[in-house]
Amino acid sequence: KTPATPPRARAEIDLAALRANVRTLRAQAPGAAFMAVVKADGYGHGALPCARAAVEAGAGWVGTATPEEALALRASGELPADVRIMCWLWTPGGPWRETVEAGIDVSVSGLWALREVAEAARAAGRPALVQLKADTGLGRNGCQPADWGELVAAAVRAESAGLVRVTGLWSHFACADEPGHPSVAVQLALFEEMVASAERAGVRPEVRHIANSPATLTLPESHFDLVRPGIAMYGVSPGPALGSAADLGLRPVMTLAASLALVKHVAGGHGVSYGHRYVTPGETTLGLVPLGYADGVPRHASGTGPVLVGGKWRTVAGRIAMDQFVVDLGGDEPEPGAEAVLFGPGEHGEPTAEDWAQAAGTIGYEIVTRIGARVPRVYV
Ligand code: PLP
Repeated sequence: KTPATPPRARAEIDLAALRANVRTLRAQAPGAAFMAVVKADGYGHGALPCARAAVEAGAGWVGTATPEEALALRASGELPADVRIMCWLWTPGGPWRETVEAGIDVSVSGLWALREVAEAARAAGRPALVQLKADTGLGRNGCQPADWGELVAAAVRAESAGLVRVTGLWSHFACADEPGHPSVAVQLALFEEMVASAERAGVRPEVRHIANSPATLTLPESHFDLVRPGIAMYGVSPGPALGSAADLGLRPVMTLAASLALVKHVAGGHGVSYGHRYVTPGETTLGLVPLGYADGVPRHASGTGPVLVGGKWRTVAGRIAMDQFVVDLGGDEPEPGAEAVLFGPGEHGEPTAEDWAQAAGTIGYEIVTRIGARVPRVYV
């Protein structure tokens, strides 16, 4: 039986907003294919529904971090067969064989990975789709320029042996969210050089790509054959230096709201939550929000996180606990069950995920991605 009370909390996911964001981003990169990055369960929004919506809005590619994420998307059977899926974070002994058999593009940053993927291709009886990743300056995944020639040569040999098809050459930016950062031009120049050297060695990639959200939005010279946005698709700004989502013409996709579990009168001088980091300045009302750090509400926003209740911004009073936190309602008396909106599009006076990022001293990516599995996603 459906309970009469509204659910404790929900994350509403506005797929129409996501589709609009994909169209906005595609308009910024009109000549490029579009890879919707849906790793980490679609940055907390649900990988499959977001992938489906992005495909409806014109994405031809879907990107994940792990092969397991990629395999789950393919196994769902809900993405058109011609939508390409790529994954890029491997450890030795990963599910290469299944991934090759599923026709998923895999990123290769070094010789051991190329060897493993080629063996899997031999066993599977079909070539692996390989995208060689260059470390052009991020210093994370990817092949160093000094080792690139050897990796490219090995990939060309594996291609001649029918074990791989080198479908892509790609890289990732370190500082594209900081306009004018000198590393951006350095990475772009190095990427062009590494692509050219691979092509001279006989690689014929279908796609060359390096642009994440900030580069898609601000660096047309980085678009090459494909852009690969994540955060902007979810309507969250890549960082304050680029402005808010609204400044960028993006619509926030997730709204996080809860029903007040309790509203009560307390006297002045009342300590609130663990450690009594908030003490009521006078007689007031307190509202109990049934969301905590187990749900991904960052404990670092204790005393700073904004919440819209009854048309007013309230601030988290005292510490955020595992399952709940308190707001000082200043004498207002909403009914228990009244809505408390932590963040949303900002169109109805509510805070945004970017406001929470600022309150917690983190980035919008972390705010939406960490919203926990206990919070039901409601697709609207
Ligand atoms: N490409 C790769 C390899 C990534 O790891 C990510 C996410 O961090 C993206 C693209 C998307 O980046 P963003 O969310 O900044 O658009």
